[in-house]
Amino acid sequence: MRKSFIALLMGLIVSLLLSGTAVASGSARPVPTGKAALTKNPIYTTGEFDFTECKELSRQPDDVDSYKIYLDHLMDCLNLSWGEEFKQAGLPFAKPKVRYITTAAKTGCGKYPAGYAAGMYCSLDKTMWILIYKHQLADPSEMDLFDTIAHEYGHYVQDRIGIMPTVEKMSRRASKAAQYAWVRRLELQAACFSGAFVGSVWHSLGRDQFDWDDLLDRTSGDVLHGKAKNIRYWSMRGWNGNGPGVCNTFSAPASKVA
Ligand SMILES: [Zn+2]
Repeated sequence: MRKSFIALLMGLIVSLLLSGTAVASGSARPVPTGKAALTKNPIYTTGEFDFTECKELSRQPDDVDSYKIYLDHLMDCLNLSWGEEFKQAGLPFAKPKVRYITTAAKTGCGKYPAGYAAGMYCSLDKTMWILIYKHQLADPSEMDLFDTIAHEYGHYVQDRIGIMPTVEKMSRRASKAAQYAWVRRLELQAACFSGAFVGSVWHSLGRDQFDWDDLLDRTSGDVLHGKAKNIRYWSMRGWNGNGPGVCNTFSAPASKVA
């Protein structure tokens, strides 16, 4: 989730060589490119998520299969919610690939940075990688995996709607500081997308507000993900907005994406 920058950066550089022109199929509009993809993306016009029910399936301690079923069900919820947003935006949608791992697997973006990354979206293999850690396996009521999968899904969305490819292009000849700033806008937007999804289905989860507050309280920032207070700001903004329309980090002032 928040700690996915190493692979993301690698992805930024290498995928430049591989990405072709994104063309919409059917009646969908072309995927936007250039600055408009970042600041005037049609995904910002879709309003709140329409599907607001998502049950969390029960998990058993140290039972990886039950965790995979739990995560697959969350993926179904994410596909429904985001698929509808894409439709409303007139953008072509497809479900992402996802891999659940328990050790540092080899990904299309290199070896998974275990111990550092909670999750990772690799734009080269177009796959969401979710590492289920031992401490998460021991605690079937934990909520970090929920946030992680919603956050990585957010990166997949960015890739499909022209945001990630545009940032890759713009970072190509940028200074290191400018590259970091681009990555922060990506990461904070993914935090907002995650907050928006989690908030939209919250009432159906049967969880205590404490779970969400605790998750935000434990947030720590860094140069590529933003200051903790900005991560909280964008997470809450998404949560309160219930949809991607409030997540335009690319039009936000520098202080909000520091
Ligand atoms: Zn991220």
